[in-house]
Amino acid sequence: MSHEGAAGTALTERTHEALQDDFLRAAVRFTTDRLKARKRLATDELGHWEQWRERGSQIRSHTVAHLDFYLKQFVDNVRRLGGHVYFAQDAREAADTVAQIVAKKQARLVVKSKSMVSEEIHVNEHLQKNGVEVVESDLGEYIIQLAKEPPSHIIIPAIHKNRAQIKDLFTAAGGKDLTTETKNLTAFARRTLRNKFIEADIGMTGCNFAIAKSGSIVLFTNEGNGRMVSTLPKTHIVTMGMERILPSFADLEVMANLLPRSATGQKLTAYMSVVTGPRRQGEGDGPDDLHIVIVDNGRSSQLGDDEFQEVLNCIRCGACLNVCPVYRHVGGHAYGSVYPGPIGAVLTPLLNQGPEYADLPYASSLCGACYEACPVRIPLHDMLVHLRRRNVEMGRTKPGERLAFKGYKHAFAKVGRYKLAMQLARIGQTPLAKDGYIESTFGPLMGWTSARHAPALASESFRDRFKRMQQDIGTKPSPGSGERGAQQ
Ligand code: SF4
Repeated sequence: MSHEGAAGTALTERTHEALQDDFLRAAVRFTTDRLKARKRLATDELGHWEQWRERGSQIRSHTVAHLDFYLKQFVDNVRRLGGHVYFAQDAREAADTVAQIVAKKQARLVVKSKSMVSEEIHVNEHLQKNGVEVVESDLGEYIIQLAKEPPSHIIIPAIHKNRAQIKDLFTAAGGKDLTTETKNLTAFARRTLRNKFIEADIGMTGCNFAIAKSGSIVLFTNEGNGRMVSTLPKTHIVTMGMERILPSFADLEVMANLLPRSATGQKLTAYMSVVTGPRRQGEGDGPDDLHIVIVDNGRSSQLGDDEFQEVLNCIRCGACLNVCPVYRHVGGHAYGSVYPGPIGAVLTPLLNQGPEYADLPYASSLCGACYEACPVRIPLHDMLVHLRRRNVEMGRTKPGERLAFKGYKHAFAKVGRYKLAMQLARIGQTPLAKDGYIESTFGPLMGWTSARHAPALASESFRDRFKRMQQDIGTKPSPGSGERGAQQ
């Protein structure tokens, strides 16, 4: 499969490119190792982690199964509080809706906190085309915005950048030479962003969770920028995936334990902000206007689908990325989509059903580490197999691959055929086998043997060997019997 993804290249090309980048691989490995270790400590400390996961899975599955009810409850409550709600069928409609609100407010500067849905609907580019300045205020997002790159991790968007690269970006943006000291770099970002918070006409955030019972938006941030974005500008726009609902604050308590511990190994997020409607009379801060854009963009197609509905349980913690052997080797950009790693390999082709992302389900070893890491127990490894099957059913495989699997099926259906196939394979491998391993510098086998050991078929099958050994034992005298006994 070699369809070109949104990045304009096929998955294999992008992974080859990433594999050449030693710095990227080292940086991704270093950070994901640290995140994994911190998560282990945080979950051990909490105790009964499997029970927490089970509860998380139950809450998310229940909510998604009754999404129509909880969405309506949420929307009714937001409107009762004076907020505005919009439903967007797809990414384009969502970005247009945001642009219309921005135009109506005659806004020139929008300041944002981190939001994966806003990346998904490409709202920044959409607003910028209309002459609006958009500034990311999460430090990682700010870095990649300056670098004009998409995020390469759900939680740590600039995971692939080092301090020297960040210094260059900040120096170019500020026009003043900086040092690579973290203190120096963060001070620059703080100074720059502080003015943007004050000057912005509109603050835009995502939504970690939306509470149906109260009509609240809950934001988890570590830098406090979410709080600035949602309180300082006069207008607050929220973009949220339609599945981000939780029934009540009691359910939030479970998620407030699962999400930060899985994402960064923190007991709690540094800032948990709850926005319940626009600012009311007598309140000191908060926006005059609250607009919530609820994005479908392919999500509702997963509802009622036994194989994929659970993907909507995802709480975007990024833990599956940190343990994935593929992600750890190639980083996020190789996936060519907004969502990288195992969740991206499942979610992206489900949200975009065209051929451009059809190769993503092959970016997995199917080891199941993602499932083990997932705080809400989403069986991503099963979903990857289902997606591969769909590709086969849709005829998206290459003719050579189809022929190979047909031959495999034919050979394995009957013992006689299997034996014959093995004999032919033993003969066929002769020119390629060396010291017990197959080495191929051409053809389809090359992809396997260039980076892995492919053991050659043994010269004799196990069955033949077993039979021969039995015959040998039957014909040879056993110790303590036969000739020795006769001598006595
Ligand atoms: S699939 Fe699970 S582990 Fe991966 S981001 Fe979603 S919740 Fe986290």
